[in-house]
Amino acid sequence: MQLVRQNDKRVPKRHRPVCAVLVALLTGAAASGCGDGADEGAAGRQKPVAGQPGAAAAQAGPAAAEAKAKAEAERLKRAVAARTAVARKWGLAKVPLVAPAPPAEKPHITTREGFEVEGAEDLPPVFTTVPTKERVVFLTMDDGAEKDPELLRMMSELNIPYSAFLSDYEVSEDYGYFKDMQARGVTLSNHTLNHRYLPGLSREEQQREICGSQDKIEKFLGKRPTLFRPPYGNYNGDTLRIARSCGIKAVPLWAAEAFPDHMEWREWDQDLHPGDIILTHFRGREDWDGSMADMIRNVMKTVTDKGYAVARLEDYV
Ligand SMILES: [Zn+2]
Repeated sequence: MQLVRQNDKRVPKRHRPVCAVLVALLTGAAASGCGDGADEGAAGRQKPVAGQPGAAAAQAGPAAAEAKAKAEAERLKRAVAARTAVARKWGLAKVPLVAPAPPAEKPHITTREGFEVEGAEDLPPVFTTVPTKERVVFLTMDDGAEKDPELLRMMSELNIPYSAFLSDYEVSEDYGYFKDMQARGVTLSNHTLNHRYLPGLSREEQQREICGSQDKIEKFLGKRPTLFRPPYGNYNGDTLRIARSCGIKAVPLWAAEAFPDHMEWREWDQDLHPGDIILTHFRGREDWDGSMADMIRNVMKTVTDKGYAVARLEDYV
């Protein structure tokens, strides 16, 4: 597995503390370098000591190196403790695994066998799993009916990446919620204006549903999507050609679907695989048996128990 390089410029700033945790978890640095008898829980809640690296640098030779290593080990230890505390706070069964650094180059993605449409043009690929050998999966949330502030806080504190596919009729009453989500690093993508069954529509109607959503997201949320997911996963050749014409580069579907109390699987083995895309929805207690937080607890238990980390879809696609 590829280790995260902490100074890697490709890693967004907000993810760096988590990267440090990964180094600790994978290398055992926290266990070996920090085993000096300090209370881990208490240390984890302490703020980093200001100026410590500077002080270390002022010393000469091996002493400086030793001080620097010790400071780094302390920092990793605090990060592990903090991550553990956050997972406990939100009631997760286990501390989520941290994804490796994003690939230097995005993988070449092709349409899944059996998901092709007529014609041999260069259309946006339709896929359910991203080609990767890493033990990562991707979390995607659709529609936008439930606007639960707890979800935003939970995902930010846990530092779990996810992607949103928005249907305008569900989100137009409160773009503010999704602006907040976007400010927290979530990419907002196209799931049409009105969530219609696209193969049943005329070309013109599909154009309005797909490209109209591109325009609205760009207007109200500031960025034109490059990812599109057709409602129910249903599409035809027109769908993909129209999507391409208004800026869509890829059409991620899903390999599994998460609910507060169970998972549903596309594959015969009813399991996760490297690169699998997981679908879930912005839903509340009136739609399913639990809150968004309950759903996250359930899906993260499955993901972590199976030894996967959640990675950011847009780092790979
Ligand atoms: Zn949907």
